[in-house]
Amino acid sequence: MVNERSLSQRLAADVMQRCDVLGRCSDEPGRLTRTFCSVAMRDAHRLVTGWMEAAGMSVRIDAAGNLIGNYLPPESNPQRRVLIGSHLDTVADAGRYDGILGVVMGIAVVEALRESNQSLPWAIEVIGFSEEEGVRFRTPFIGSRALAGTLDAGMLTLCDDTGVSISQALDHFGCDPHAMDACSATPGSIVAYLEPHIEQGPLLESLDEPLGVVTAIAGQTRLTVEWAGEGGHAGTAPMNLRNDPLPIAGRWAVAVEEAARSTPGLVATVGRLSVDPNVPNCIPRCVTASLDVRHQEDAVRIAAVDKLLTLADELARGANLAMRIERQHEHSAVAMDPRLVEGLAKSVASCTGDPQRMVSGAGHDAGVVATVAPTAMLFLRSPGGVSHHPAEAVQESDVALGLQVLVHFIHALASEA
Ligand SMILES: [Zn+2]
Repeated sequence: MVNERSLSQRLAADVMQRCDVLGRCSDEPGRLTRTFCSVAMRDAHRLVTGWMEAAGMSVRIDAAGNLIGNYLPPESNPQRRVLIGSHLDTVADAGRYDGILGVVMGIAVVEALRESNQSLPWAIEVIGFSEEEGVRFRTPFIGSRALAGTLDAGMLTLCDDTGVSISQALDHFGCDPHAMDACSATPGSIVAYLEPHIEQGPLLESLDEPLGVVTAIAGQTRLTVEWAGEGGHAGTAPMNLRNDPLPIAGRWAVAVEEAARSTPGLVATVGRLSVDPNVPNCIPRCVTASLDVRHQEDAVRIAAVDKLLTLADELARGANLAMRIERQHEHSAVAMDPRLVEGLAKSVASCTGDPQRMVSGAGHDAGVVATVAPTAMLFLRSPGGVSHHPAEAVQESDVALGLQVLVHFIHALASEA
């Protein structure tokens, strides 16, 4: 145990240093932005490939630009694999750990397994997904959707701001977009997908817990509500002769907050209000509010959204406003594999103490891969809850603990096989 701990401490120091090095592979000077199939992504691939090869892995890039390192432990069946990883792309002006940490930790896990040279029943593959954040093509999860076989051919024609399509970007990156079918996992070939990821929120830190086990990725509804009145002069229109949509939008935003506070696990946000014409001495003509609602149970989320839209309609009628709803995005909650969740929780318990089980409010590659393979996620505490920001951080001691947990979990999984 003492040896395992000192090994994971040494490997955690490497992980931190590698995240620093990858943080310098950027499309933009002075800040970290690394998008799908960019020059910076090529630099990142070169570095990650070097670390994978040094850890005894053979490395390939699939047709979707996913970087995959394959390690064959003694006596392993190469047709079956445990996948560990996350994504290598970032948001604009990103931190160094979102996504990247999971890939680099995957390599460290292989280094630990290789050091012990124990036999395992399957291959271990470390995957760096090419795209998760949806920055360049405004569509997320390109890498993991290719693995899941849910990337439809029509998507390849989507263009970035410079008119380059996904297909052209892949071609330029040295990948064959016509071979996309070959990316998808053969049913049953993935024994487990494990995604270590920073929490990106404040919960674990608030509980003084280093690690959390994700039970589900929350479902989400995104829509906008528009209320239209008549507008007018702020000085000449008497209050009883107005139909001003802004106070209605305000009342609704308060109701959204109250609904979420009174429903366990529900988060609901009015993140954007657009006011037309947005001028101090004009009564607004039209106000548009965004709504983002998330919950681990679809029925709870759908009921909350229905109630809020009914209220929006009642408010509109009461104020003689026209109302329009535009639904933008909706996805169901994704449960993590119960057996892997239990196993991961046991491994955390044996390394540090009973873990926090939690729902991920953010989307992850794990949510996509879970549709085709048993999947689990290990969250590492985010200092300050900060993410998608240069100040994003992770503690080296938490990384060491996370590595210990993952190695323990892989051995436990192997003993069940
Ligand atoms: Zn991420």
